[in-house]
Amino acid sequence: MSDVNLQGIGMTSRRTRERLIQRLREQGIASEAVLDVIRDTPRHIFIDEALAHRAYEDTALPIGFNQTISQPYIVARMTELLLEDGPCEKVLEIGTGSGYQTAVLAPLVGHVYSLERIRPLQEKARKRMSLLKLHNAKLRHSDGGMGWPAQAPFDGILVTAAPEVVPEELLMQLAIGGRLVIPVGGSGGQKLKRIRRTGENQFDTQELLAVKFVPLVSGTIR
Ligand code: SAH
Repeated sequence: MSDVNLQGIGMTSRRTRERLIQRLREQGIASEAVLDVIRDTPRHIFIDEALAHRAYEDTALPIGFNQTISQPYIVARMTELLLEDGPCEKVLEIGTGSGYQTAVLAPLVGHVYSLERIRPLQEKARKRMSLLKLHNAKLRHSDGGMGWPAQAPFDGILVTAAPEVVPEELLMQLAIGGRLVIPVGGSGGQKLKRIRRTGENQFDTQELLAVKFVPLVSGTIR
């Protein structure tokens, strides 16, 4: 992976990336900070070479193990939703996958803690973090449904796989004032929610948009 071209050429060039930014703007992404990070993040290194020419299309793409790298619009929107209420020092991400969302979060927050249940995906993502010198991202192979108690509380938690109901553990690992951005629902359809912890046992939930994520699955794969 050390010989990858971070700048990109042809279909992964700066100009192609600029078209993606334009599209995200048209779709309502307004945060310049988020758009800047997406422009600067080489999405083509997060997917197989055979698909790299499609890296700057606004679409999810397969990354193996029946998983996908999230669509840029969704990554941008979830990041915006997490940061809208002000800066986050500590963020927990569940479902590292390719590491693309992790790489978008890292420059915008103090520290990212990211959990992935499939070991080979987690290891590849780790290599990408060091290639991009994102030293404030800490990755771990584990079942994210339990959160990361040793690092709690978090100012933000972002979940990129959908549980049928919001895991209680994640709510309890939010700092007061912290927010959880999470897709929720089963085969009948999922909704993206933002849940703010406003007090010890007080939560304020917003239901935002219909989304389609892979399911949150318990247990780990080596
Ligand atoms: N943000 C990622 C999306 C990956 S898809 C990206 O842009 O690449 C969702 C990921 O969540 C998959 O890699 C899947 O293995 C992982 N996942 C599903 N259930 C999980 C769980 N309980 N704990 C940790 N990761 C989980």
